[in-house]
Amino acid sequence: MNGRQLDEFKRQVDICLVCAACFAHGPVTPHNWTELPPPEWDAPNDRCPSYEYYGLRSHTGMGRQMLAASVFREGYPVDQDLIDVVSSCTNCGVCSEVCPMWRPLDAIAALRQEFVQRGLQPRATQKLDANVAECHNLFRGRTREPVLEALPRRGADLYFAGCEAAFRQGATGRATVEILRAAGIEVAHMGGDEWCCGFVADWGGNASLSEEVARHNVQAAVAAGTERLITSCAECYAVWKTHYPSVVGELPFEVVHVSEVLAGLLDEGALSFDHEIARTVTYHDPCFLGRHGGVYDEPRRVLAAIPGLKVREMRRYGRWSYCCGSGGKLTQLTYPDFADATGAARVHEAEAVAGAVVTACPACVMQLRRTAKKQRSALEVFDLPLMVAEAMGIEVGSRITPGEDSAGGSDE
Ligand code: SF4
Ligand code: SF4
Repeated sequence: MNGRQLDEFKRQVDICLVCAACFAHGPVTPHNWTELPPPEWDAPNDRCPSYEYYGLRSHTGMGRQMLAASVFREGYPVDQDLIDVVSSCTNCGVCSEVCPMWRPLDAIAALRQEFVQRGLQPRATQKLDANVAECHNLFRGRTREPVLEALPRRGADLYFAGCEAAFRQGATGRATVEILRAAGIEVAHMGGDEWCCGFVADWGGNASLSEEVARHNVQAAVAAGTERLITSCAECYAVWKTHYPSVVGELPFEVVHVSEVLAGLLDEGALSFDHEIARTVTYHDPCFLGRHGGVYDEPRRVLAAIPGLKVREMRRYGRWSYCCGSGGKLTQLTYPDFADATGAARVHEAEAVAGAVVTACPACVMQLRRTAKKQRSALEVFDLPLMVAEAMGIEVGSRITPGEDSAGGSDE
């Protein structure tokens, strides 16, 4: 949220109707208002992860919207309880999907910026921001995936791997490079000029850091001769698509998620899957690719093209998909019990229909793997490029690079 957006939000901060549609069970008809439109009737009852876990109206889009009005209009004091209520939102966006009046996420973003300005940011978020400011990535002390280091520094197709695929889940980075190479696309990579996308700074409320990162990354991508920028991570995709243009203006190149590239290559006949995969899988929509980014069909089209693969939907999918609990790492690191409970709900939902879950974001992969392990679940978790590589007979290994994680969680 840039300064102009923040000012605009503060002018309209008390617009919430208190209709409860953002968390309540089923469509709601407030006494002075009309019923939600029919498409919203499909919204699952258990839609807001923080309301499901804490069971309090304060922990909903509505509650946080009302807190924002109290803080910005009435000077309500900011104490630790208020910080916890606002910070323990996974940013999943389902409240904004049904809210008829306003985007509750804007209230949450505005309050988080206020916490940072007052020096009251949660400690785990401060640590992530320090990693990004000092090391330009989330994982202090790690080395970049060698396959990425070996790529040219300039080119029309730039692979923005993101911190997970570059430092912790190298298999996703390797798979992406090899799949695209097999389809005739040689991607470039910016090496050390690829800074963390700044998602944690942006959604954690550190506006100055997220804007510094945006300016650097856009400038570096332009200098690399980019015409199309490809992301692995749903959070990188979301900040490149929406946050960066709000900071620097319209980008002079296209931004796409790898699932969109793969679906396009399939349409052109440039990808062929000649290895059968006899599995039943389900697809988990990352919040920042689906609800925030509008990409629902492309990953499903890619999975549907893999011979032998059976794909079943979970109870909550697509627009109403449930969060994995990661919150782009912010929830996972700041409120781990809440994140794990949310992840456990998603793991059980997946294992009710399939033996494996495929998603299209390394951050979701990390959270779902970690939760499945804690739940002693046999559910396997794959990032989409890993499944595609297997279908193409490309061997990349799916082991996550071992090592200590300075961002808070351990490799699993
Ligand atoms: S973004 Fe998700 S977790 Fe946060 S208030 Fe909205 S529905 Fe609840
Ligand atoms: S935030 Fe939106 S959906 Fe939630 S109570 Fe207010 S107006 Fe209704």
